[in-house]
Amino acid sequence: MTRDGNRGRAIVIGGSMAGLFAARVLADSYAEVMVIDRDRLPESPEHRRGVPQARHAHALLARGQQALEALFPGVTAELAARGAPTGDMLGDARLHFSGHRLRQATSGMVLVSASRILLEDEVRRRVRELRGVTLAPASDVVGLTTARGGERITGVRVLRRSDGSAAEVHEADLVIDAAGRGSRAPAWLETLGHKRPDEDRVKMDLHYTSRRYRLAPDALGGSLASVQAATPSHPRAGVLARLEGDQWLLTLAGVLGDRPPTDPDGFLAFARSLSFSDIYEAIRHGEPLDDPSAFRFPEAVRRRYERLGRLPDGFLPLGDSLCSFNPIYGQGMTVAALQALVLQRHLRSHGALPARRILRHFARVVDAPWEMARGADLALPGVPGRRSWSQRLIGSYIARLHAAAVHDARLGTAFVRVSGLVDGPAALLRPRVALRVLSITGTGRRG
Ligand SMILES: Cc1cc2nc3c(=O)[nH]c(=O)nc-3n(C[C@H](O)[C@H](O)[C@H](O)COP(=O)(O)OP(=O)(O)OC[C@H]3O[C@@H](n4cnc5c(N)ncnc54)[C@H](O)[C@@H]3O)c2cc1C
Repeated sequence: MTRDGNRGRAIVIGGSMAGLFAARVLADSYAEVMVIDRDRLPESPEHRRGVPQARHAHALLARGQQALEALFPGVTAELAARGAPTGDMLGDARLHFSGHRLRQATSGMVLVSASRILLEDEVRRRVRELRGVTLAPASDVVGLTTARGGERITGVRVLRRSDGSAAEVHEADLVIDAAGRGSRAPAWLETLGHKRPDEDRVKMDLHYTSRRYRLAPDALGGSLASVQAATPSHPRAGVLARLEGDQWLLTLAGVLGDRPPTDPDGFLAFARSLSFSDIYEAIRHGEPLDDPSAFRFPEAVRRRYERLGRLPDGFLPLGDSLCSFNPIYGQGMTVAALQALVLQRHLRSHGALPARRILRHFARVVDAPWEMARGADLALPGVPGRRSWSQRLIGSYIARLHAAAVHDARLGTAFVRVSGLVDGPAALLRPRVALRVLSITGTGRRG
């Protein structure tokens, strides 16, 4: 691994997944990397205030697993050694899409079924070990410092979370904003005389409720997870996954204000209302390990920094601060890891860091998952937004592909590769895939 250490100091705002991924690649090029987070960052897998979503299912997509390995070689084996079940994305998971259960078979895509707190702990542990990286916990970034009349970001202002502390300035050659969905960077930039980025939004008013269980290892007949996606006629979803420590996590989801209840009876009744009974059957006599906890996600938000004509030098947003996806598709961590890999390529090949060019490359990483998620959201009646003719056509083709994948594992594999961001969406429209879909669904063999 190269490390030139020429670049001075980088600061990362936010020490969650995106910030840690960024720190990993910055450490190869910067003499010093400081990761600042307002939370106390634990030394073991624990929940913390700044990442409330960690109580809910956190699927690592196939491309995310590959990107994580590229950033932290051996991480999959390490997670497995710490108890995370691993297997095959299609062979070891029951996937239900468009009201069909896809045929289980080996896809070659690796499934890592770790809790979000274990994933983050493992990544944080690896980042802590990197030369030149320091974590600055319990510190709130409250603004940016600038030079050249706001045209260059020179550092951050930080308020430590201790009594009576005054704001401190930390200087940096590069500031990465990985503060997540609630990032205040758009407002900070505005006060410096820059425009706020435009925002694209998809409102689906999603509600999650999750609960952990102790279940028998074969609660799903030996599979590690059951995933039930919402359909237009039954827009409720559920994921039951076996995690480390022989725990299982059930996340239930409803859209457009349909809230999975937090009282145990209501939670169970919601699980029972899913299209397939396997999740309910697995948990109905299981031992709950905590109370159900809820999370509301009103809308997906994509900030179009790449479209700004003018941007200050020395500043880059990444991860959820750039795009906060509908979590139901499990894309956020994977896209953040892919952006870190884009940043790594730029750090290796350019002297200067051309912010606008990097942001255009980040945008390219976001485009396909954003459009796939938007298309799937708009397939649900009541989600506001314009439905194009081509979107409807693709939606009905994908539903036929799911029906055909009940019989044909090659189609299931093709789908898992695309939804896992390994292949682009066009892979599902290749003639040999389309012919298989049409030959199976056209003969009346629907699942
Ligand atoms: C309910 C839910 C379920 C999800 N499920 C999945 C899934 O299945 N798969 C998947 O890949 N992704 C999922 N995601 C998305 C995933 O959680 C994020 O994409 C991932 O955590 C990367 O986000 P991030 O690091 O950019 O921001 P976050 O995880 O939001 O972290 C932001 C960090 O910045 C810190 N911070 C914020 N402001 C400041 C400040 N001013 N000063 C200092 N520190 C600050 C916070 O304390 C926090 O640590 C889900 C999200 C939600 C909401």
